[in-house]
Amino acid sequence: MKKLVEIYDTTLRDGKQGEGVSFSVADKLRVAEKLDAFGVHYVEGGWPGSNPKDIEFFKQAAKVKWKNTQIAAFGSTRRKEVNVEEDPQVKLLISAKTPVVTIFGKTWLLHVKEVLRTTAKENLAMIGDTIRLLKKKGKKVIYDAEHAFDGYKDDPSYAMKTWFAAAEAGADFVVLCDTNGGSLPREVAAVTAVARGELSCNVGIHTHNDIGLGVANALVAVEAGAAQVQGTVNGYGERTGNCNLTIAVPNISIKMAKRTIPKASIGKLRELSRFVDEIANLMPDRRQPWVGATAFAHKGGMHVNAVQKVAQSFEHVDPAVVGNKRRILVSDLAGRSNIVMKAKEMGIRVSDDTPQLKNILAKVKEQEHLGYDYEGAEGSLALLIRKALGRVEPAFHLEAFHVSMRGDVAEHVCEATVKVRVGEDTAHTVADGDGPVNALDQALRNALRGFYPVLKKVKLTDYKVRILNGSSGTAAKTRVLIESTDGKERWYTVGVDENIIEASLQALLDSIEFRLLKK
Ligand SMILES: [Zn+2]
Repeated sequence: MKKLVEIYDTTLRDGKQGEGVSFSVADKLRVAEKLDAFGVHYVEGGWPGSNPKDIEFFKQAAKVKWKNTQIAAFGSTRRKEVNVEEDPQVKLLISAKTPVVTIFGKTWLLHVKEVLRTTAKENLAMIGDTIRLLKKKGKKVIYDAEHAFDGYKDDPSYAMKTWFAAAEAGADFVVLCDTNGGSLPREVAAVTAVARGELSCNVGIHTHNDIGLGVANALVAVEAGAAQVQGTVNGYGERTGNCNLTIAVPNISIKMAKRTIPKASIGKLRELSRFVDEIANLMPDRRQPWVGATAFAHKGGMHVNAVQKVAQSFEHVDPAVVGNKRRILVSDLAGRSNIVMKAKEMGIRVSDDTPQLKNILAKVKEQEHLGYDYEGAEGSLALLIRKALGRVEPAFHLEAFHVSMRGDVAEHVCEATVKVRVGEDTAHTVADGDGPVNALDQALRNALRGFYPVLKKVKLTDYKVRILNGSSGTAAKTRVLIESTDGKERWYTVGVDENIIEASLQALLDSIEFRLLKK
């Protein structure tokens, strides 16, 4: 059997250091459970010595039955010149009751002397003592060698001594950390190979992405014999982030054909990435390799034509292997193939011989010229195509509307009235809102939900406005993009006009009409 490359997730500890990332105890447990289900080998839950929230996490985690994951508590070696058994931070690590403890220690003499202000010899004792105690307590010990590459470059023999100290004390892994994230792949490969050759224990790799090489450095370390990769989901982490496991895992599994996370889980990679973004309340990175919305998106007409014939002509793998999907973008670069494939993706029957195809393409290009953007507004595009095919009867007609805003120094209120007609019947409603668009949205849905109860569940979840510069002699236009949901699905619609309310109204009407198409 091929040797396993273990995945060690530190989203909840190193990842949390990233700007804008924060997790409650409940969030941490949910992420850990997701990572467990995904098949990650270790989940580092936090540093019990640094805050009460992390202590609480370990208390809760001790009650969970983990299926695939071993929970790790993170901390440091004992302080200088103290008895390890009396070091409060080390005691907290032991009392976290995790099967695994990961401690970091110094490799680089500069840090030993200038930061710790101790001797080269005492640093070795701090590493050895701490690991021996943890082993005595029955822990699996992972030793994170901080500044491993910078330290090795500065003084290879001392760096090796620190790693030997860890291995001889019984560490299960010595993990080489590119803490400052500035090493090159050839440096990482060479040092990892040396460590792998000299040490009796396993070697792992922990990289940061400061020069854009976090994943590349992890991969070359794996090639040089590292049996554990530490990183974070979506690459969260301090500064520019950690080794992005969402990229590293499929590369190790699919491109390097090594044994790591179970194959079946790799197909849920996109779901994992989205889940963690959702919990962290961060917008998913559309351009993220493998799992991003644009990772398998095709825009140029010639590319799309080729992909339509043979997918692999412009795709490095089948998007489904990581749970992603092919997307065809429809824009002014589009050709007939884009429309055909896009329509198919949206469940609309259109073929190369559909007579209206030429008109649809012309209409899309004309609309894009006016400022519409269908790449992010597939709901509006679906309506456009269906209308051009003559396959859609309008579900309602907006006969009239009025929007107003009044207020004084203390507060203001927006009010909208709308009159809609459905068949022979009409409805006339009024609604308040925090803003004109919100009021219009309320009034429209109040008017229509008597006819279409399904609209009760629909709500507007995001609203983006972009001012498009007018070309010479024309006024600037406003493009409004809205995201709606019915609790199950999300869809996106667009409106463009010189008047922001008119642009918003178009997008709102499209949103409602699109939902009613599905019934
Ligand atoms: Zn780190």
